[in-house]
Amino acid sequence: GDLLGLDNLVANTTYLKAQQIDRNELRKRRLSLTLPKLKKTSALQAAEGEMYESLCEQQPIGSKLFQQFLLTSNDQYAAAAEFLDELSKWSFAEDEKREKAKQTILAKFCQSQSTGFLSYFTEEDAETCKDLSDSNFDEVILDQLREATREFLKGRPFSEYLKSQFFYRFLQWKEYERQKITDKYFYEFRTLGKGGFGEVCAVQVKHTGQMYACKKLDKRRLKKKGGERMALVEKQILEKVNSLFIVNLAYAYNSRHHLCLVMDLMTGGDLRFHIYDLGKRGIRMERVVYYTAQITSGLLHLHNMGIVYRDMKPENVLLDGKGQCRLSDLGLAVELSKGKMICQKAGTTGYMAPEVLKQEYYRYSVDWWSLGCSIYEMVAARLPFRDFREKVQNDEVTRRTLEDECKFEHKSFDAPTKDIISRFLKKRVARRFGCDDPRSHEFFNSINFHRLEAGLLEAPWVPKPNVVYAKDADEFKDNSDIKDVTFDTKDEKFFREFSTGAVSMQWQKEMIDSGVFDELNNPGHTEGIIS
Ligand code: ADP
Ligand code: MG
Ligand code: MG
Repeated sequence: GDLLGLDNLVANTTYLKAQQIDRNELRKRRLSLTLPKLKKTSALQAAEGEMYESLCEQQPIGSKLFQQFLLTSNDQYAAAAEFLDELSKWSFAEDEKREKAKQTILAKFCQSQSTGFLSYFTEEDAETCKDLSDSNFDEVILDQLREATREFLKGRPFSEYLKSQFFYRFLQWKEYERQKITDKYFYEFRTLGKGGFGEVCAVQVKHTGQMYACKKLDKRRLKKKGGERMALVEKQILEKVNSLFIVNLAYAYNSRHHLCLVMDLMTGGDLRFHIYDLGKRGIRMERVVYYTAQITSGLLHLHNMGIVYRDMKPENVLLDGKGQCRLSDLGLAVELSKGKMICQKAGTTGYMAPEVLKQEYYRYSVDWWSLGCSIYEMVAARLPFRDFREKVQNDEVTRRTLEDECKFEHKSFDAPTKDIISRFLKKRVARRFGCDDPRSHEFFNSINFHRLEAGLLEAPWVPKPNVVYAKDADEFKDNSDIKDVTFDTKDEKFFREFSTGAVSMQWQKEMIDSGVFDELNNPGHTEGIIS
């Protein structure tokens, strides 16, 4: 015990300082880093059977190397690469930048006499391209030309790429990606939160400086409470989803005492903390609308993949450094097989839908109910069927949920907010909102979902960079120790199954963002290449 809270102050300072790591210092630290020599077949086998889309488009490093191959091969390949590049600029940019991309496309690619003329087009595509002008420049025509370009690239360029030094380099990166991950790969910082099976702390990858959150599941506690399957499901769902509104998984590994999930670090704290722990209770309306919009997009993403979240509540919604939010804690999520429903009581008291409480069959409807409860809580700092800090039995909350009407006594509820909550809190599933698309409700009038879902809508509130949005580190201290648990070969097998190491998409992004990709690919490092 330190009366002055000095331990906590030190923990916070080191944690905040790590986030402002000096890039040059890092670069020096990893000067000796090299890509592994290829073992004969391992990486090749891993990449084999993978298609153009995965190798050249989806995987960030694959896409970069394929680009480099195209740009250095010949004029025709380079033109194709530049064309696709300008097209995507045009698709995603706004206003002047979009206009500029359009003018570049028209000037550079759409006239047969220009050097960039795309000679691989069929006669028909070439005509379409030549006819492009300010007036008929639209998504449909450009999609057609984009498709034609991709079809071309999938042919000869792709097979030549597979034999090039660039692809060899890609395989080296894949070999590197498969490295075994252990505790030594990270520096560890303060605890940020606590869950049922252990704590979540901040970590930093030594070589890249990338910060993450590490959810450490205590192996003994997992076994004692039979939480293994749940942990595996959480891991498998996390690595499958890829959304701006759900925390991404970057690594899964195991240490002596823990199974570890390394995820996006959300430095802004959870929404429960923002509702109750920052002096003024509740969250201002503009923010409530913004968070609800992002949560809605996240839920729709899960539902489209056949996943029911089942633990929607402010505590599980986390803010990042820019003030954008993501769903986390997918420990109760479940993937439905096609057309199926489930009937299993799961969730948190106060947020569970009537159909869950009555143990009926259900699907996605339960998440919309919980979202209704969460909007209510963000505004009023209490739940619809449970007052703040009210001492009340679960049975009574259940009774109220099934029988009572939701009341809106708090002064901040305006008409659209009451309306959307009431629609989410319809006791009968068939009447409930959400099973259709809630994004067009007037509650969301201020939100441009197209921009929001591209990550382009700035947050109404940004966390202060020098504040740690978590309880003091020593409040997470845990003294309960579990001793009488031993592990057998079946447990060890499960731990290995869980520990799949780096998740491709996140890891490759980390290599690129941190500059490691460029450093290891630069001319000073090319000796190892065999072509
Ligand atoms: P559990 O499944 O045991 O409830 P959670 O995944 O909800 O565990 O994590 C527990 C707490 O840790 C959260 O309430 C949050 O405060 C903190 N936390 C979890 N994930 C992150 C993250 N990615 N970034 C920052 N803090 C996190
Ligand atoms: Mg949780
Ligand atoms: Mg959980």
